[in-house]
Amino acid sequence: MSITVVGSIAYDAVKTPQGHRERMLGGAATHFSLAASFFDTVRPVGPVGADFAPDDLRTLCIRGTLADDVVTIPGGETFFWSGVYGEDLNSRETLDTRLGVFAEFVPRLSTAARACDVLFLANIQPALQALVLDQCDGPRFTALDSMDLWIETARDALVEVIGRVDCVILNDSEVRQLTGRGTLSAAARELLELGPSAVIAKRGEYGAALFTREGFFSLPAYPLAAVVDPTGAGDTFAGGVVGYIAAQRARPVDHELLAGAMAYGTALASFNVEEFGTERLARLSFDEVQARVAALHRFTQFEIPFVKETV
Ligand code: AMP
Repeated sequence: MSITVVGSIAYDAVKTPQGHRERMLGGAATHFSLAASFFDTVRPVGPVGADFAPDDLRTLCIRGTLADDVVTIPGGETFFWSGVYGEDLNSRETLDTRLGVFAEFVPRLSTAARACDVLFLANIQPALQALVLDQCDGPRFTALDSMDLWIETARDALVEVIGRVDCVILNDSEVRQLTGRGTLSAAARELLELGPSAVIAKRGEYGAALFTREGFFSLPAYPLAAVVDPTGAGDTFAGGVVGYIAAQRARPVDHELLAGAMAYGTALASFNVEEFGTERLARLSFDEVQARVAALHRFTQFEIPFVKETV
C-alpha cells in the first residue's frame, strides 16, 4: 500500500522575522512527503532540474519515501519560489516564482504510483490534477489542495476536479473566495454540494476546521511560543491528515477518522514551523508527534460547565 502525491519539489528563498534562507529544499510535495512518510510509503511525483542536489533527494527520501517518480530533467532548473513573511507570520508576500522544469510538467505516473491506496493532489494546475486522477486505479481516498491563483484563473477546471475527490484541504480564505460566501460554514457547506464528503479549512495559527455531512469539528493549532518559518505548514498538515488515513486502512473514512487525522496534521505542522524549511521534520521522531497529539487531545477536553440543579 502507498500514498502518491503530485506537486512541486522546489528550492525556496524565505525571509521571516526570525531570519532567512537563500536556497533551501521546499515544495508542496516535499513537505507533504516528509509528514506522510511517518505513516506509509510515499511516492512523490514531480520534476526536478539538473541542479537538484543528491543531499536534498536523500532528505526527501528519509523514512522510506520512494523517488521513482521524481524525474530529473537534464539541463533544467528546479522550481524556485521566494517569499517574505510579515511581523505576525500570518501574512506572506511572494517575491518570485520561477517555474523552471515545472513549466512543461505533464504528470505521467508509474504503475506503482497509479496503484496507490491514497492520493494527494498538491497545489498544481487543476487540469493536471484531473490528469493524475484519470491515471489512478481508483484510490480508496483522494484529497486536493489549491491556491488563489487557480481560483482566479482556472475556476471551472478547479470546481470540476473538486467534484472528483473525497476531501478538499484549503485555506479558509480560499474556501470563501471559491464560493463567494461570507461565513466559513456556509462556504464549506457549498463546497460539499460540489461532491466531496469532507472540507478541511486551514486557519494558520488558529487551527483547522472540518466540515462533513455528519457534522463539524475544529482543532486549535498547537500553541507555540515562537514560530520561525511557516513555509510548508499547510502541506505538512495535509501530509499528516492523508498519512493517518492511509495508515488506518481497515477503517471507513468518516467524520471521526478525519477528526483524528487532523490531530496528526496539526501536530506535524507545529513541528514544521519551528525551524526553516524541512529542517525540523527531517529529524523528527514519531514519539514527539504522539506527545503533541496527546497534548492537543488534553487541550480540547472540557466539562459541560453548568448544570442547573433541580430541587
Ligand atoms: P505552504 O506554505 O504550505 O503554502 O507551501 C509552501 C510551499 O509551496 C513552498 O515550499 C513552495 O516551494 C511551494 N509553492 C509556492 N508557490 C507554488 C506554486 N505556485 N505552485 C506550486 N508550489 C508552490
